Amino acid sequence: MAEHLSQSELDYPFKLLEYFNGFRVSKVIFSACELGVFDLLLKSPEPLSAQHVARELSTSVDGMERLLDALVGIEVLEVETTDGTAAYSSTDVANLYLAKGSGKSLHDMIVYQSQTIYPLWNNLTWEGKNQNQKTFGLPPEDVFRAVYRSEEEMLKFMGLMNSSWILDGHDIATAFNLSCFQTIVDLGGCTGALAREMAKAYPSSSVTVFDLLPVVETAQKHFSQENDAVVFQSGDFFSGEVPPADLYVLARIIHAWPEEKCLMLLKKLYDTCKPGGGVLLVEAMLFENRRGPVTAQLFSLNMLVQMEGRERPPSGYTSILNKIGFCNVQVCRTGKSYDAILAVR
Ligand code: SAM
Repeated sequence: MAEHLSQSELDYPFKLLEYFNGFRVSKVIFSACELGVFDLLLKSPEPLSAQHVARELSTSVDGMERLLDALVGIEVLEVETTDGTAAYSSTDVANLYLAKGSGKSLHDMIVYQSQTIYPLWNNLTWEGKNQNQKTFGLPPEDVFRAVYRSEEEMLKFMGLMNSSWILDGHDIATAFNLSCFQTIVDLGGCTGALAREMAKAYPSSSVTVFDLLPVVETAQKHFSQENDAVVFQSGDFFSGEVPPADLYVLARIIHAWPEEKCLMLLKKLYDTCKPGGGVLLVEAMLFENRRGPVTAQLFSLNMLVQMEGRERPPSGYTSILNKIGFCNVQVCRTGKSYDAILAVR
């Protein structure tokens, strides 16, 4: 994706057409996930016909056959045809990431992308023109309250947040040696997924998840673990006090808010932590020249349609941190979706 569209596109725009179809490819995977195709194939001891899958999942045979064929086309499923009958089976990748049961399942991420992000991106043209009208017609500080009014929406959002750390959590927790920080507070830590990775990597540190009350209650009800390595504390990091800590983790927080709110929050952390204390920002970082990675560029557009923030290159974060007084800013690119930036007071 990073290369320029080649001259050969002038003869026939293969790549452009592939990009146009990107939303269809996404929706094929999302729909199969929501219908339970991958769960059914994972459970089945043998490959299944389209008729069988359609009957089990209460869909039309014709529709299911086309969906399964498209999934074979994008190499998410496999097919074998015997005596004119096609039998479909999952690939290892589908079993690991797309079926519900596996420890690495991205099912919750897919449901949120399909049901919330996908319709929101319909607003992209409009958002680009009118940045004062934000998602749901609400200012960003009210977006979370609006999402959290329905337990169903809140659970979907928390499921999405949780999924990312299945993939990137360990890399983020170990991007720097954080063992010198005895008390770690993950501000806006949501389900505690990243905080648990921190607790695993630094077993002698105490790790607290700090979030809004409804989130803390829902996290404890739906995402807590036996002998949980993290503790939860509720509060509002903008309007209230934050608990004292040696290290504050801010994962996907700074990218969501306008700069003045970020500065206000970071100043509060600077004033609360002692010299030697630090902040760890976790974000999808743009290249310094903003020419990639494409994932970060797309996430930045996502912040336009969903909140009032943006993704930044390393210098963008360094400048905000330095304005507050944080120094020794270190950047670690993990090579995955999310990167880490550490700074100390
Ligand atoms: N850090 C988590 C992660 O990366 O998975 C969640 C990031 S999510 C984009 C933002 C989080 O900040 C949500 O869990 C939300 O409830 C929390 N949040 C938003 N406003 C907050 C506030 N004023 N005080 C405390 N938490 C807040």
